[in-house]
Amino acid sequence: MDIIFYHPSFNAETWIGGLQQRLPKARIRQWTPGDDAPADFALVRQPPVEMLQGRKGLRGVFALGAGVDDILGQLRQHPEMLAKEVPLFRLEDTGMGRQMQEYAVYHVLGWFRRFTEYQQQKVQSLWKHLPNYSRTDFSIGILGAGVLGQSVAESLKIWGFPVRCWSRSPKDLPGVTSFHGAEQLGEFLAGSQVLINLLPNTPQTEGILNRNLLSQLKPQAFLLNLARGAHLVEDDLLAAIEAGEVKAAALDVFVREPLDTSHPFWTHPDIAITPHNAAVTLPDEAMDYIAKSIAILEAGETPGGLVDVNRGY
Ligand code: NAP
Repeated sequence: MDIIFYHPSFNAETWIGGLQQRLPKARIRQWTPGDDAPADFALVRQPPVEMLQGRKGLRGVFALGAGVDDILGQLRQHPEMLAKEVPLFRLEDTGMGRQMQEYAVYHVLGWFRRFTEYQQQKVQSLWKHLPNYSRTDFSIGILGAGVLGQSVAESLKIWGFPVRCWSRSPKDLPGVTSFHGAEQLGEFLAGSQVLINLLPNTPQTEGILNRNLLSQLKPQAFLLNLARGAHLVEDDLLAAIEAGEVKAAALDVFVREPLDTSHPFWTHPDIAITPHNAAVTLPDEAMDYIAKSIAILEAGETPGGLVDVNRGY
């Protein structure tokens, strides 16, 4: 079995060594431009078109992350890049659920207990109690009820916040009020004090976090964007904060990354920023998952994480 590996920033030696231990019979190599020898599987992030196009013997492609918008974006521009019969798989959870839980719980509790505001008061040496929020009014709305959305819902439920989610298809999740489809989006938003975005980036969800959507949340809402920068219309967030519709936001992802040093988000007192690391790919977990998936494919079955290319995630 031949496996080719390409990632613009991961250490190829570490990955190839780790995969080799898990798949001792496989021949694994780093793909470099000009390599057009056959391969059974390709492990990729932001793959150049020539890595996949016309690759002889290809039986599966594994994305080295949870999102596949980089690969599907390429595929929309170059439909010949990947033959229709070659399945594309993504990482499901592999330790990212726990990281997303940590991120979401940290910010939700910070906003609920007003710790961010107390830090701002501290800078002014200001000793002043702020009114408490009511837990039952502090409802959490999660856009996307997939692997990571459900994981985050679990972590917030236990604090007693009302949790609701919105997805494409109906869901039946214990202790979570579920909404689906465009027709239920308004009702979902109207009852959400905190909005957490965990949607995939598809042509249908691009720009979904816009002024119109933000204005439908409960007044003085909070926004947590953990998914993709393309979901947020950045000027609309600034306008929504200015208008008092949104009280604060925490953003991990941006339209252009790295965020330009002159971007107004850097100095905005009500916007927290992290450099797209809410949930990173953990090499050991990811390699275990991929090795297991390859074994399942070799046994003639289909592993988890199969991407529906037409649906876009
Ligand atoms: P997932 O399991 O595929 O879940 C996606 C969810 O979004 C599903 O519930 C799906 O609905 C819903 N959805 C998709 N399109 C929709 C639409 N048009 N309208 C309404 N709902 C829609 O994905 P995941 O593993 O949870 O990951 C979510 C995203 O997180 C990834 O795509 C990636 O962009 C992002 N991410 C970010 C980081 C980071 O570090 N910031 C790390 C990992 C992942 P159905 O359930 O009905 O299909």
